Amino acid sequence: MISSPFWPGRAGLAILALAATLLSGCAREEPEIRYRFPAMGTLVEVTIYDFPAEAADEAARDVEDLFLKLQREWDPWEGGALAALNAALAEGGEIRPDDELSGLLARASRISAASGGAFDPAIGRLVKLWGFQDAEHLPEAPPPAGEIEQLLDSTEPLPRIWDEQNGVLTAPANTVIDLGAFAKGVAVDRAIELLRSLGVRHAIVNAGGDLRAIGRHGDRAWKIGVREPRNSGILAAIEIAGDESVFTSGDYERFFDYQGHRYHHILDPRTGYPTQDLVSVTIIGANAGDTDAACTALMVAGHGHWPAVAAALGITQVMVVDREGVIEMTPPMQKRVKILREEPPTIKIREVP
Ligand code: AMP
Ligand code: MG
Repeated sequence: MISSPFWPGRAGLAILALAATLLSGCAREEPEIRYRFPAMGTLVEVTIYDFPAEAADEAARDVEDLFLKLQREWDPWEGGALAALNAALAEGGEIRPDDELSGLLARASRISAASGGAFDPAIGRLVKLWGFQDAEHLPEAPPPAGEIEQLLDSTEPLPRIWDEQNGVLTAPANTVIDLGAFAKGVAVDRAIELLRSLGVRHAIVNAGGDLRAIGRHGDRAWKIGVREPRNSGILAAIEIAGDESVFTSGDYERFFDYQGHRYHHILDPRTGYPTQDLVSVTIIGANAGDTDAACTALMVAGHGHWPAVAAALGITQVMVVDREGVIEMTPPMQKRVKILREEPPTIKIREVP
C-alpha cells in the first residue's frame, strides 16, 4: 500500500507500469535483477545489470527507501517538508524554505519561467479544487467556473513569488506548491545517483513508465517501450545506451468523464482547465527532473506551441500524440524511435525552432 494520499494513480498501477516497458529478449538468462515497489502513486521498477546479485538486491532496496522518504518529504498535503511549507503559506507572507526545498523551488521556478508559465508548481490549490490531489477518489464533475476564475485571480505563478536571490517565498495566503509534475523525475535522478555511488554502472529506474537508464544491457542497448495512450499496446520502441531519461505525460493517467468530455490531471494554469489538444507527450532528455517537468509543460503548450516551448527548455527529442492519433515528432526524435503501431499512423515532422 502507498501511505501518502497525494501521489495519484493508485488504481492504475498495473496500467501505468506498462507505460514504458523493458523490451528484453531473454531476461531470465541475463545477470540482471529486477525489483518492484509502490511509491509516488505508481509502481517503481529498478533493473540492475551486471552487478553481484546480493549487492544489487541491497541497492534496489536502498532505492526503495529513498523513494519512500522523498514521497513523504514532497507530498504537498501531509507528512513532510513540503506539507509544512504549504501549511506555513496558508497564512501568506514571507517564508524561507530549507536548503533542499529551496534548491527544488529555484530549479522549478526557472523551468516555469522558461516554459512561459505552462509548468507552474504554484497551482496546488487549483489541483485540489479539481480534486486531483486525492489518490483514493477521482472527481465526478468539474468545479464551478466561478470558483476556478476566483482562484486564478488570487494565485501568483511560482517565478513571481520565489525570490531566488534571497531564497524567500512571498506568496498570497493559501498558495499551495505542488511538485507533482517534477518530483518523480527528481526522485529518479536521486535514485540513479545513489546506484552510481554504490558502483552500479548499468541500470534503469522506471517509475510507472517514466525512467532514466544508464549504461547498457550487456552487448546491446537498453530497449524501452512507450505505451499507446488510448490502449494497452506499445506505440514505439526506443534504444538507450549511455545515460538518458524517457518521460511521458498523458491525459490517460488520471481522468474522469463528465457529459461526454474527458477531464484530466494536467491543468493549464492560464485557463484553470485540463489541457485539451494533446493526449500524450514523450521526451527523451538528459536528467529525469527536467524531462519530467518538460513533458507537463509541453502538454499545456499544446498543438502549434509545443515546439517553441521545447526550444525554450532546451529539449530536442519530442514525440506528441494528438486526439486524432496523429503523431508529431522532431527530427532528432524520429531518428530514435521505431513506431510499432500495427496500423501505420500519420506522422508529422516538426522542427524545434
Ligand atoms: P505529470 O504527470 O508529470 O504531467 O504531472 C501531473 C501532476 O502535476 C498533476 O497531478 C498535478 O499534481 C501537477 N500539475 C498539473 N498541471 C500542472 C502544471 N500545469 N504545472 C505544474 N504541475 C502541474
Ligand atoms: Mg511531468
